[in-house]
Amino acid sequence: MADKRDFYEVLGVNRGASDTEIKKAYHKLAMKYHPDKNPGDKAAEEKFKEVNEAYEILSDPDKKDKYDRFGHAGVDPNFGAGQGGFGGFGGFGNFGGGFGGFGGAQGGVSFEDIFDMFGSMGGGRRSTSRRSAAQKGNDLQKTITIDFTEAVFGCSKQIEIPKDVRCKTCGGSGAKPGTGKKTCDQCGGTGQITQVSNTPFGRFQNISTCPKCSGSGSIVETPCDDCRGTGRQHKTVKIKVDIPAGVDSDSIITLRGQGEPGINGGSDGDLYIVVNVRPHSTYKRRGDDLYLDMPITFEQAALGDKVQVPGFGESYTYTIPAGTQNGSSFRLKGKGVPNPRTGRKGDLYVKVNVEIPTKLDRKQKKAVEEMSAKLGSGAYPKKSKFDKLKF
Ligand SMILES: [Zn+2]
Ligand SMILES: [Zn+2]
Repeated sequence: MADKRDFYEVLGVNRGASDTEIKKAYHKLAMKYHPDKNPGDKAAEEKFKEVNEAYEILSDPDKKDKYDRFGHAGVDPNFGAGQGGFGGFGGFGNFGGGFGGFGGAQGGVSFEDIFDMFGSMGGGRRSTSRRSAAQKGNDLQKTITIDFTEAVFGCSKQIEIPKDVRCKTCGGSGAKPGTGKKTCDQCGGTGQITQVSNTPFGRFQNISTCPKCSGSGSIVETPCDDCRGTGRQHKTVKIKVDIPAGVDSDSIITLRGQGEPGINGGSDGDLYIVVNVRPHSTYKRRGDDLYLDMPITFEQAALGDKVQVPGFGESYTYTIPAGTQNGSSFRLKGKGVPNPRTGRKGDLYVKVNVEIPTKLDRKQKKAVEEMSAKLGSGAYPKKSKFDKLKF
């Protein structure tokens, strides 16, 4: 399963690149991979397509904004198709970050779909009225908050979401069971209304979607009692969301087809779950790496010691070298958080805080004084050097 590449990466520009930079990069790459220049070269052809797709999005302020916020899921309704195993678990992304992509398999996207996605601004090039009436259902968004531990290990959450669903009684047709549909009398079944207006500048023909049948060309004979002919009902629906190990705050999980029902045969909308992770009292996290502050004694720092580091979920033995300074960090490789996309674990960084004893009794004070006398200033080269500074 190939991940869809980040559009900025495709064009070889930084996030935050200016329009001019994006345009320049696109022109360079489009020239390089143009099929005319690389006849019969499949790889170049793929690159050319990829570059064009990236530019299509990044050159359009609206699409670029969506892409920056939601990743591929924001601009491609078909993203994440074919994820059977996860029960509709489609995509996975990050606000402001790139799009990782659990899915990205573009199964079943026809050229027409792509044309619909990108060509709709061209206007008036749709082939049939029935086709233009098909509308994807509304996408929905829900934010859920989970614990730090749940994010690290993954979890399963039940959410409730109010949304329109297909009416069970009529199966979404809007027709009372046992009754059929008839041709819309307002548009004669074309789904479109043509209005001609005469103005001083000439005759203008304006084609619009039929308001009576919403462009479908047919209307129900007898409306369904349960949905009053709308084919949909508003319900609060329970949905189980599987959250993969390693998600971070602002990650987005796409549940394909779990939005609201499509209209006139259009595909169902998607449900975007925005994940919010509660902070942990002891551990901090940056990307896949974990950070931990660990207090150690002065003696451990001076003499070195074998210590137990409380990792997340299990503990690790680490040998602190003699002469360890306060504030120094060591890294436990691969003991961080699994990356939800690659499964590879980040690292655990442990910062050492040397604790200085307080409330010493008389005997203890004496011991420290004796130690101080024995160590002398030679044991503290930095301090000695500092003491000799003249301003
Ligand atoms: Zn009509
Ligand atoms: Zn109904």
